[in-house]
Amino acid sequence: MKKGYRGYRSYDYLEAEHDYQYFKLAAEVGRVKPYRLPLNQEEEERFEEMISKNLIISLHEHPTIIPEQLQELEQYERQGREATAFAGLAESCLDVIFDNMMDGTCVIHSKAGWKWEDIIHDIGMRTCDIDHQDFLIKGERLDDFYQAKTEDKIAWVKSLESATMIENELERIEILYGLGVRMIGITYSESNSLGNGLKEKQDGGLTIFGHQAVERMNKVGMAIDLSHCGDQTALDVIAASTKPVFISHIGARALWNIKRLKPDEILKACAAAGGVIGVEAAPHTTITKNNPDHNLESYMEHFEYIKELVGIDHLAFGPDTLYGDHVGLHDLFSSNMSIEEQTATTTHQKIEYVKGLENPSEAMENIIRWLVKHNYSAEEISKVVGKNILRVLKEVWN
Ligand SMILES: [Zn+2]
Repeated sequence: MKKGYRGYRSYDYLEAEHDYQYFKLAAEVGRVKPYRLPLNQEEEERFEEMISKNLIISLHEHPTIIPEQLQELEQYERQGREATAFAGLAESCLDVIFDNMMDGTCVIHSKAGWKWEDIIHDIGMRTCDIDHQDFLIKGERLDDFYQAKTEDKIAWVKSLESATMIENELERIEILYGLGVRMIGITYSESNSLGNGLKEKQDGGLTIFGHQAVERMNKVGMAIDLSHCGDQTALDVIAASTKPVFISHIGARALWNIKRLKPDEILKACAAAGGVIGVEAAPHTTITKNNPDHNLESYMEHFEYIKELVGIDHLAFGPDTLYGDHVGLHDLFSSNMSIEEQTATTTHQKIEYVKGLENPSEAMENIIRWLVKHNYSAEEISKVVGKNILRVLKEVWN
């Protein structure tokens, strides 16, 4: 349990039901049977040492809680008042978390999502909540990360999975930076004015406006994420950016042939340009033939494959988990999140949740436990749990 947490719950400064519509939320801990990869005594000690010595960074999460009853989810999202899982996060080993906000479920005033007004609503509302407590501190520069570690708190980094909401306005990149956003995806799975998303049958690559946006992001110091881009658009961004880029939550298409994962060519190009690749754990993504049930083992198979392909200096973890029924959320928001197009090429065994990687509390912990159990050295572990990300952010954030 992190000592920096003193019991605050989301929107405690208001009166539930009197001031806003209250939804009974999923349990932050124990919604499904918690799983901790077993270690022997000596490995436990190494695990503890790795946690205390390193800055532990998750490159991609949604550390919010959705309602216990899934039929309330749409109504909940429409309120634009997502609850942060402070208590759940206090049980994690994380020092820094990249929070990707409402993404495809940002449907406050629109069914299709990603509207400028809605994104600003989401950012403002969540930040207001964060400003009323002191366990999560704003992660806007690297010093904030070290402060969080020292005070046993967590640095909270605002990220957006797509730049769709900037429409044709370059200055919105600066406005979002001013509001604390520090990483933006070029596209979500759908195309936008910058380029093509992964769901398209044809990818015309980065647009002229997309090139201008990449240039502006480089100048402003906004990190770039390519996770949901089409293949040609991703390659174009890597070539256009003067700074290294992230693929914050991804796996290897060579291991599981779905559009949501990236081919070797892109993984190699990202690494060759100095970038970092975070491995994805959202349900039904990082599956393999050896492990058709999505779980910690199939996840780490993707990690090891990418490590062999591009080297350990370009790897990190972006589990992309949340608190609540993630599979149910995918079913409900399947069209907004292009779930079918992402996974259509290969049939998978449906799971209820990803054992060992169910939420931000247990995901990074089990990943590090797995690395310890498989004899990764202290140096290798420190690189993939944080140092590689720090190296790129030092270059990208101004
Ligand atoms: Zn995503």
